[in-house]
Amino acid sequence: MAELNPFKIAQAQLAEAAEKLGLDDATHEFLRWPRREYRFTLPIRMDNGKTKVFHGYRVQYNNARGPTKGGLRWHPDETIDTVRALAAWMTWKCAVVDIPLGGGKGGVTCNPKEMSEREKERLARAYIRAVGSELGVHRDVPAPDVYTNPQIMAWMMDEYEAMHGHSHPGMITGKPIPLGGSQGRGDATARGGVYIVREALATMKVDPKSTSYAVQGFGNAGQFAATLHAEILGGGKLIAVSDSRGGIINRQGLDPQRVIHHKLETGKVADFPGSEPISNEDLLELEVDVLYPAALENAITGENAERIQAKVICELANGPTTPEADAILHKKGVFLLPDLLANAGGVTVSYFEQVQNTYNYYWSLDDVQAQLDRKMTDAFNAVYAMQQKEKVHMRLAAYLVAVARVAEACKLRGWV
Ligand code: GLU
Repeated sequence: MAELNPFKIAQAQLAEAAEKLGLDDATHEFLRWPRREYRFTLPIRMDNGKTKVFHGYRVQYNNARGPTKGGLRWHPDETIDTVRALAAWMTWKCAVVDIPLGGGKGGVTCNPKEMSEREKERLARAYIRAVGSELGVHRDVPAPDVYTNPQIMAWMMDEYEAMHGHSHPGMITGKPIPLGGSQGRGDATARGGVYIVREALATMKVDPKSTSYAVQGFGNAGQFAATLHAEILGGGKLIAVSDSRGGIINRQGLDPQRVIHHKLETGKVADFPGSEPISNEDLLELEVDVLYPAALENAITGENAERIQAKVICELANGPTTPEADAILHKKGVFLLPDLLANAGGVTVSYFEQVQNTYNYYWSLDDVQAQLDRKMTDAFNAVYAMQQKEKVHMRLAAYLVAVARVAEACKLRGWV
């Protein structure tokens, strides 16, 4: 379905912003496409002795505001179009939080859940051998995303340094702390999202302590959102969570730490003691104050948007809501915190990590969190002011802020 092709969606979102901003045709056309993209095959010797050929991608979408930046996703459904969309979204995300970086993204079509640690290491190193010459602190800087993690970043940095012959910690972010990772990078995506929820609730005059919330997707962002919502807001009740294998609900409240423990032990949230099962679809339609979609694209579509009952949606996933659903949610009065704003905490702390690597001087956790709060709050205020001024939905408001900044940088360089 064309509506669900993420790159077509990214282009449609841009078109709406371009029209509202009155962008000239050349600038719009320039921003509609990646500047550069790489596709490559990765033959990997598997543990059973057979060779398997994987397909890898890296898209450098726009570098007008700085080196391209964005994660690496290892997922069975990865395609060039998912990576292009994610790279476009990174461009707008870095601009909305006003960090001096462009947007990029990479991926490999694979299922890491079926791979051993050694196979993952070979894949990580092969990826860098294939495209490492195009990466670097002043060119393009990867980071973790769905099904990649600090260990994979460590292997990649090691392979890159072996290729180049000297130390290059800033070529990749989300590294383990002993290898130049930043304090506070682990929970940064969720933490940034909860800071923004705090600001949204304040404009709505809702007491954050009395909020109920649900989390769809229980990877890095989802797990930290489950604990940080109550921690940062000083209260709140987690009603339901889900992962790719199903969900759980308890209207009296779930203990986030215990659910995380159960997930780590059993590999799923299902069968958590004292909970009832709930499907991913039904979880999205629960009556809660705050809903955190933290899984993949296209969770909220034209098909289910009408039934959404959450007051605030904080998009920790990239691309969870289609344009058709955006329009419906806006009409229903849902306070939507769009991905490019809501999940920008991750790349913001990645940027802090690069700054620390470059200075070779490391900040305390308190410093990282205070700087993150300031960046996220400023970004929320800029987008909210735009929303109030233009009377548009929050995603379009965020796009207006971001696209105007990227377009200005392109013009200043004389590109368009
Ligand atoms: N993968 C994260 C995102 O989608 C973080 C990217 C980064 O840190 O570069 O925003």
